[in-house]
Amino acid sequence: MRPLDFIDVELEELRSKGLYRETFGVEGAQGRTVRVDGRELICFGSNDYLGLASDPRVKQAAAAAANAFGSGATASRLVSGTMELHEALEHRLARFKHAEACLLFPTGYMANVGTIAALVERGDLVIADRFSHASVIDGCRLSGATFRVYAHGDASALEEALKRSANARRRLIATDGLFSMDGDLAPLRQIVPLAQRYNAALLLDDAHGTGTLGEHGRGTAEHLGVEGQIDVSVGTLSKALASLGGFVVGSEKLISYLKNRARTFIYTTASPPSVLAAALAALQIVEDEPERRARLRTLTALARTELTAAGMTVPPGEAPIVPMIVGDTRRALELSAHLRSRGFLVPAVRPPTVPAGTARLRVSLQAIHTEEDIRALAVACREWAAGSRPLT
Ligand code: PMP
Repeated sequence: MRPLDFIDVELEELRSKGLYRETFGVEGAQGRTVRVDGRELICFGSNDYLGLASDPRVKQAAAAAANAFGSGATASRLVSGTMELHEALEHRLARFKHAEACLLFPTGYMANVGTIAALVERGDLVIADRFSHASVIDGCRLSGATFRVYAHGDASALEEALKRSANARRRLIATDGLFSMDGDLAPLRQIVPLAQRYNAALLLDDAHGTGTLGEHGRGTAEHLGVEGQIDVSVGTLSKALASLGGFVVGSEKLISYLKNRARTFIYTTASPPSVLAAALAALQIVEDEPERRARLRTLTALARTELTAAGMTVPPGEAPIVPMIVGDTRRALELSAHLRSRGFLVPAVRPPTVPAGTARLRVSLQAIHTEEDIRALAVACREWAAGSRPLT
């Protein structure tokens, strides 16, 4: 046995269980449609909820910033400095989220990992919703604090865990706002008072809610009426804001603390100008064009109704992430392949991303989809539900 021979064994095991993952090539740009293997597919696999990644204003902003400011930030901001666009975007994001201050990270993943690991350590307790994003979970693990999960969306389970936390020095609750694989919302109206009663800080990762939920697109907290009661708000620029990067908004002192303690801010190169300018342009559109959110809501309602009527198991919800629960991993792959054969890109989501026995297809909507896109997808789903075999 050579040292890396275990890889063959593990990959074979993944293949035999239908859990092997492969990337696939996309020709040209991301958008309402994508080209895969020379075929145009309607894309239901993107997090570009408002359809801004292909918006000429956003693309031009990125190109102009690269021309004006260069292609890279060249080092950590603590070393090579904060560029104008970092400052401008942090300022805009803080204003957008009604917070005192903001700190950018190169990705949302790094924002969660670095922030959670900075806020709690050995002797503290961090409690997260069981279905929180991997970056929240990884931050909790890395922190060295005692880490507990509570049943998904279950505020009474959270309270039980808080009641048993008398010995902890500090307490932190962490949850997604809009859950990325289930399309449901954290019960923030119950979690906020619990955090207050048990003197726990609350971290909300609203990667998917930012730009999509709430009248003004400020996210799940706006949608549920609990703005101003979240201690640490994490977001990403990579979804509705059509760019790349994570951010944290909160009090001035929180942000100063993170600049000193968040290792994923300190020890990494800052975001490049093009990425920042794209996010700034997208944020302007989020604020100026609420009709995009309204359109997304209309399409979401249509998709949920049509896919349910087509015989799919769609849990209730109001978010533009619409899971179709299949259960068995191979059946989920089959459905995904069937839909691809009919001209739709809808990714299958399998364990360990979701719990065993709950493999699903994740339909994510974009404001630039048409009603016809959704109706045609439902027809293809109905066909599969009726037992038709995929064309190969
Ligand atoms: N949080 C959630 C809930 C997410 O779904 C994601 C991305 N899938 C992230 C954080 C990470 O964001 P980014 O892609 O910017 O790293």
